[in-house]
Amino acid sequence: MSEVNIHPEFQKRMIHQLGKVDYQQFELALSEDSPTTIRLNPFKIENCPFEGKEIAWSQHGFSLEKRPAFTLDPLFHAGAYYVQEASSVFISEVLRQLQVPKGIFLDLAAAPGGKSTLLSTYLSQDGLLVANEVIQSRNQILKENLIKWGLGNSIVTQNDPAHFQDLEGFFDLVLIDAPCSGEGMFRKDLEARKEWSPDHVRLCAGRQQRILDQAGGLVKGGGYLIYSTCTFNEQENEEMIRFLTSEFAYESVRIELNPDWQIEESTVQTEEGTFFGYRFYPHRVEGEGFFISVLKRPEDAFSMEPKKKKDFKHQFLKLVDEKTCLSLDEELGFENSQYYLLNDSYFRFPEMWKTHLEQVIHSLNIRYFGTEIGKKQKTEWIPSHDWAVSILPKKGFSTQEISLEEALEFLRKNDQELNLKESGWVLLTFQNLPIGWVKNLGNRINNYYPKEWRIRNL
Ligand code: SAM
Repeated sequence: MSEVNIHPEFQKRMIHQLGKVDYQQFELALSEDSPTTIRLNPFKIENCPFEGKEIAWSQHGFSLEKRPAFTLDPLFHAGAYYVQEASSVFISEVLRQLQVPKGIFLDLAAAPGGKSTLLSTYLSQDGLLVANEVIQSRNQILKENLIKWGLGNSIVTQNDPAHFQDLEGFFDLVLIDAPCSGEGMFRKDLEARKEWSPDHVRLCAGRQQRILDQAGGLVKGGGYLIYSTCTFNEQENEEMIRFLTSEFAYESVRIELNPDWQIEESTVQTEEGTFFGYRFYPHRVEGEGFFISVLKRPEDAFSMEPKKKKDFKHQFLKLVDEKTCLSLDEELGFENSQYYLLNDSYFRFPEMWKTHLEQVIHSLNIRYFGTEIGKKQKTEWIPSHDWAVSILPKKGFSTQEISLEEALEFLRKNDQELNLKESGWVLLTFQNLPIGWVKNLGNRINNYYPKEWRIRNL
C-alpha cells in the first residue's frame, strides 16, 4: 500500500502531536486496509444486508467483515445504503446528542453526498436540506446520490460560498465539511500523500478561512455550525475555529464522548473562551482520520425568515396552482405537496418549505429540488426514474419482483426477456425495493433505467 512515502515534515509534526510510541502505531495503521463501512437508509431497509457490526456511535452505520462488490448489488443502486467511512458518521451522534431542531440545513461542500444523505435522513419529512457543491462534475454525483436516497427533502445547488451572501441568518444548521489537505485519508488515498506539503497545508488553510468568512454568518440565532475536515493539523482545524470565533459570535458546544470510542477531545483557547474539537486517529478508531467541531450561534444573533411572495415568477419554473396540487396529491396518493413544472415535467416539493425554496431560487443556482415525478400526457404518466427510487407511493402502477440476475441485466440496461404479468408501466423491485421502470409493450420491453447511471463492463 505505502509505495508513496510519507513526507518527512508530516512525520515530524505527527511525532510531535502524538509522541514517538503512538506515532509508530499510527504509521502502522496507515499501512493496513481501510475498514469498509456503510450507513443504512432507514426509510428503505431495516437490517444490514452484509455480515458486520454496528459502528459504536451510529444507529445506522455498520462496519463490514469484508468488502462486497457494491456495484453488483442492486440494493446499492436502489439507495438502500451509502458507503461511508465510519468517523464521519459521528455527525449523526452530534445531531442526536444536541437534539438539533429540524429546520433548514445547509451542507456547503456536499459532494459526493455522504454527509448530505445523513442530514437528509435526520431531517426526514420535517426539514429541508440545501446541498451545495461548486464543482460541476461533483455536483452531478451529489445529485445522483440524493435522488437515489429518495427522501425528496433536498435542494441541490451549485454555488461558490460567496454567492450565499443574501442568505445571512437563514439556516438552522450549516455544515462546512471543508476541502482540506486530506492527511486523514493517507491510507485510502495515495494522491493525498503525494500532494501533501507544508505549502499545500497553508493553501488549504487559506481556502478554509475564505469559506468560513463567507459562511460564518449564514447560521441563524440559536442555530449550529459544524466544521469538519479529514486532516490532523492545527492550521486547518483549531486555527480555523479561532478565526471563526474572532469574526462571528459563536458559543461553545461540548459533545459527550464514551471513552471506549477513543476519540480525542481538543480544547481551543480563543479570545471568546474555550471551544472544543474532536479528532479521530486511524490507529485508535475503526475509521479514517477526521476532525469535527460544533459551535452554536447566540439566540439573539440575526435571523432571516423567507418573505412570502404573492406571485412566484421564474424564467423556467412554473408554479402549479393550489387546486391542481390538491388534485395531483389525490391522484398520486401524496400529501402536502407543492408542484412545479420544469420543461413539462412535474416536480414534487414539500409544501411547508415552498417559501424557502422560492427564496433560495432567487439567490442560488439550483440544479435539482424535491422529486421529479415525470410528465403527464393526457391521463398517462411518463414516470421518472427519480420517482421510482423515491420513497413516495406509486399508486396505480403494477410492481414486479425480479431475481438478482435480472436486476443486474436491468441495471446494465441490457435487453432481456422478463416474464411480466402486467402490460404498460411496471415498477421492478429487488428484495422489495424499487430499482426502476420498464414498459411492457407486449412484443417488447423498454428499459427506462437512466443511461448515464448504468453499470458498465461488469
Ligand atoms: N461532504 C462531502 C461528503 O461527505 O461526501 C465531502 C466534501 S469534500 C471534503 C469537500 C468538497 O468541497 C469537495 O466536494 C470540493 O469539490 C468542494 N470544494 C472545493 N473547493 C471549494 C470551495 N472553494 N468552496 C466550497 N467548496 C469547495
